[in-house]
Amino acid sequence: MTDITIALSKGRIFDDTAPLLKAAGITALDDPETSRKLILDTNHANVKLVIVRASDVPTYVQYGAADIGIAGKDVLLEHGGAELYQPLDLKIARCKMMVAVPNDFDYESAVFQGARLRVATKYLKTARAHFAGKGVHVDLIKLYGSMELAPLVGLSDVIVDLVSTGSTLKANHLKPVEEIMQISSRLIINQAALKLKRKTIQRILDAFSEAIEK
Ligand code: ATP
Ligand code: MG
Repeated sequence: MTDITIALSKGRIFDDTAPLLKAAGITALDDPETSRKLILDTNHANVKLVIVRASDVPTYVQYGAADIGIAGKDVLLEHGGAELYQPLDLKIARCKMMVAVPNDFDYESAVFQGARLRVATKYLKTARAHFAGKGVHVDLIKLYGSMELAPLVGLSDVIVDLVSTGSTLKANHLKPVEEIMQISSRLIINQAALKLKRKTIQRILDAFSEAIEK
């Protein structure tokens, strides 16, 4: 095998990718949750996993620091996806991008009345496009995490965030009111790497395709 570097984030993406890697015959020799290593060796001397922030994965692949990456559609939309080949929806880390509001906030009538909404989110591009599409005027407030807090302390009226079970919303007296899109993680490939390492990358791609949940 040619040298291959795969970028991914720890947590749910690593956990959901491990079975796909296994199907491709690749096993990490360290657990990113317990190891402090940022470059993990695998059972193949020439295959390395680099563990980075979820939102940094497209950047590593774009610049060729990693040949392949696994990133959520949420992250790819914010990044823009320039120069990245995205051949495969891995159907892992599935959730929904949603608009959520405090339980006592009447979103429908706020929208109907043409109110200007303050929206707190990590996903500026996605949120901007969504509300522009609805003709709703918004002030976007960029946050890096814990969006659920924003309406509770009067920072925003509304949040745009990822929701899976909805239990975090519920615990913070929020309710989902609008689905923006379904989210899952994609395989992304550096275009130069695809040309130079075609055989190895194709082998991984085929194994992943075969192993994806139908
Ligand atoms: P960081 O913690 O580094 O700031 P993050 O919070 O985006 O980044 P994770 O929470 O590990 O990182 O999420 C990584 C990816 O997993 C997201 O980009 C998204 O695609 C997906 N994801 C996020 N939340 C959920 C969820 N509740 N259910 C399923 N998948 C999710
Ligand atoms: Mg997180």
